[in-house]
Amino acid sequence: MTLPAPQTLRAVRGEILHFLSDPAAYGAAASEHFADGILAIRDGHVAELGPAEDMLAKLPSDIVLDDYRGKLILPGFVDTHIHYAQTDIIASYGEQLLAWLERYTFPAEARFADPDHAAAVASFFCDELLRNGTTTAMAFATVHGTSVDALFEAARQRRMRLITGKVLMDRNCPDFLRDTAESGDAESRALVERWHGRDRLLYAVTPRFAATSSTEQMTRAGRLFAEHPGLYLQSHVAENCCEIEWIARLYPDARSYLDVYDGFGQLGPRSVYAHCIWLDDADRARMAATGAAMSFCPTSNLFLGSGLFDLASARARGIRVGIGTDVGAGTSFSMLQTLNEAYKVLQLNNQRLSATDAFYLATLGGARSLYLDAQIGSFLSGHEADFVVLDPQATPLLARRMANCASLDERLFVLMMLGDDRAVAATHVMGEPAGLHPALSKNSKTVNL
Ligand SMILES: [Zn+2]
Repeated sequence: MTLPAPQTLRAVRGEILHFLSDPAAYGAAASEHFADGILAIRDGHVAELGPAEDMLAKLPSDIVLDDYRGKLILPGFVDTHIHYAQTDIIASYGEQLLAWLERYTFPAEARFADPDHAAAVASFFCDELLRNGTTTAMAFATVHGTSVDALFEAARQRRMRLITGKVLMDRNCPDFLRDTAESGDAESRALVERWHGRDRLLYAVTPRFAATSSTEQMTRAGRLFAEHPGLYLQSHVAENCCEIEWIARLYPDARSYLDVYDGFGQLGPRSVYAHCIWLDDADRARMAATGAAMSFCPTSNLFLGSGLFDLASARARGIRVGIGTDVGAGTSFSMLQTLNEAYKVLQLNNQRLSATDAFYLATLGGARSLYLDAQIGSFLSGHEADFVVLDPQATPLLARRMANCASLDERLFVLMMLGDDRAVAATHVMGEPAGLHPALSKNSKTVNL
């Protein structure tokens, strides 16, 4: 059979790896690997994947083919928790969560009332994600609706999958970042109308955390989440011990911090909670039963001294888990560096993170935690063709260490321990090299990766 050759057919060749299920449960059967493979893409979606020698016989000879032999092609990384408005305060010294919010975060977020500032940061943020091989992100904006418009617009121009929402925050925060239960609800609803389901963009109801929203605002957030099928909800839970004591004082009737969200109808499919460090078995049972997802944010948890995520307990309950960089408390946009720190966090918890488990979490695991695994996260036929091309020879040390690797598992582990943005040779979105899309942008300058 010969595939037809419309203008929209293209292909990439290289070593290709993707996951079809969780390797922690299904072992080697969970993944598909081609030492020399070709991924054929039609209209931005996966048409077919197979060994190069088989695919070459099928493809038209004049097809656009990106030759990445010697490099490793994986589905684009999925970052399930990040704050775009904190890009400019990454690596700010010396505090734990609550003081860090007051001293660094809130002043930085205040600047997003200015649409020009928001647009400039959103543009840098999306380019930085793509430069690191991340093609899908679930991101916090700020309390300002303009900050959401700016991020959605920047992602739209790059054709990225992106989930974001206006932060809801009507108490226990500076006046200059405060909405009201009514205004936060109305503005969220207007943003849902404007953006949710447009191109590849999805809206998340975004209460910052239970301490900064009144019970009236929490009630409205839960109602909005329930009213719109397909809407997301993102927040933070059980990150820091002082935070947990504060929540217990604010919500004395709740059984636990997670129970606060549960009581307002904020647990369910497409709700994603960052951190989930200080949970108990009853909390984990509720996350599993409701289909809520955890975002494991290792660089942030180490940087703020918050604690160690317990992956084994989450897995034992069958809870959906993705990886989050949590920039700006997280210290890197790089998913490779985030997996490196995830490995170390789990070492301190007497747990292991194999390289295959790690790359699963960064791709299909993340997609599953966002209920997007029918669209992204693997190279199944019909899926959106987002992928990252990793260069195992990107640095002298990587090249030297790779020469001593005996297996794919070992090479993957070296990539996640020694790799960072330098190891990302290219990122493709909907099949095409990532960057501002000429047809979608007034500025047709392409970002060279
Ligand atoms: Zn966060």
